[in-house]
Amino acid sequence: MKYYSLNRQAPDVNFKQAVVDGIAPDKGLYFPSEIKSLPQEFFKNIQDYTYNEIAYHLIEQFVGDEIPEKDLKKIIEDTLSFDFPLVNVNDDIFALELFHGPTMAFKDVGGRFMARCLSYFNKNENNEVTVLVATSGDTGGAVASGFLGVKGVNVVILYPSKKVSEVQEKQLTTLGQNIKALEVNGTFDDCQAMVKNAFIDREITSKIKLTSANSINVARWLPQMFYFAFAYKQLANKDKQLAIAVPSGNFGNICAGMMAQKLGLPIDQFIAANNANSVVTQYLDSGKYNPKPSVQTISNAMDVGDPSNFIRIQEIYQNDFNIIREHLVSYAFDDETTRAAMEHVYKNQNYILDPHGAVGYLGLDSFLKNKTDWQGIFLETAHPVKFLDVVEPVIKTKIDYPEQILAVIDKQKQSTVISTYEELKSFLLNG
Ligand SMILES: *Cc1c(COP(=O)(O)O)cnc(C)c1O
Repeated sequence: MKYYSLNRQAPDVNFKQAVVDGIAPDKGLYFPSEIKSLPQEFFKNIQDYTYNEIAYHLIEQFVGDEIPEKDLKKIIEDTLSFDFPLVNVNDDIFALELFHGPTMAFKDVGGRFMARCLSYFNKNENNEVTVLVATSGDTGGAVASGFLGVKGVNVVILYPSKKVSEVQEKQLTTLGQNIKALEVNGTFDDCQAMVKNAFIDREITSKIKLTSANSINVARWLPQMFYFAFAYKQLANKDKQLAIAVPSGNFGNICAGMMAQKLGLPIDQFIAANNANSVVTQYLDSGKYNPKPSVQTISNAMDVGDPSNFIRIQEIYQNDFNIIREHLVSYAFDDETTRAAMEHVYKNQNYILDPHGAVGYLGLDSFLKNKTDWQGIFLETAHPVKFLDVVEPVIKTKIDYPEQILAVIDKQKQSTVISTYEELKSFLLNG
């Protein structure tokens, strides 16, 4: 499969190159040159396929012959080593729980798939690769866990000091081995800007092979298509119209859902649920796309002021505002409303939402108002335990640590504090 740069100033590359480079030399995101729908029979008979088979059918064309069938199937099997249950929260509202993986947020699947692809491509190379990644909270842990112990790959994670939760920080900073955490005095946007600078800094790139593991990387972005098909497989009633609400930050997850829809998955409406960082909500209202510096909220993994994957959504829908508006609606919610939803759903349905899932729930609830013959799924993107300091005071109940968290919570944090780009550069060049 060929990939082209959305800036259209760089040569096309194959899947391997797109994964290894992360971003095109003209700084554009890679996008597949062709999207072939799957036979309708496949979706009609989705019940008859296992999760691994569904995943294989969805991703196969995007990998092409660059990873042999047997190896790709093994990568998928290793990636999907946990559950993706669809839980009925009330009436026609379901939660797709994407937090049963090792770091308890949905980024585990993308992180694990990408790590395994990179390690497959790197298996005969002597050169080490450094994965450089900025995280607002969950990406870093998922990438770190996905790459832990992978030969020939070093991982350097930048995270904003004091702006990630305690559990998230432990997941980033306690693994050791080939994983290094840099604690940045600044915001997520500062971390992301530093990472972007490093990628175009010849003094660095002439000495170190850098790659990214943010959702700009196609191997992290595309496997997220699986979720939408897994949700559909589990729906008991497939005759009603289906809306899916995705709590969105960088818009990688929802954009993967749109790719699954392109392949033929019957989703009737996408809902982008945002927190106060609502550039896309405002775009759909006004037609104007105005990126802003991110503001801090209780759903911190969505604190993104200029979502990097939005350009892929525009590409999917031919850069046509009206077509985008047909497929996508968006709502934004402040922290107070989000807390109220967490409290309400816990009281009435005995279901504990994390702040991100709560934003998704609110988006879905807003969309479904006054609609009959619809059902909806919101993606529950993180386990509430990752945001204990927010969730417990709202529901006034203790949440037990699952085993994945018990394994890290008492470990000693190991990080290097940096404040400037020069410090990042010196860390990369001198270790
Ligand atoms: C990353 C993340 C999001 C946002 O996903 P995008 O693909 O960046 O839109 C939402 N919820 C949680 C818990 C996350 O970690």
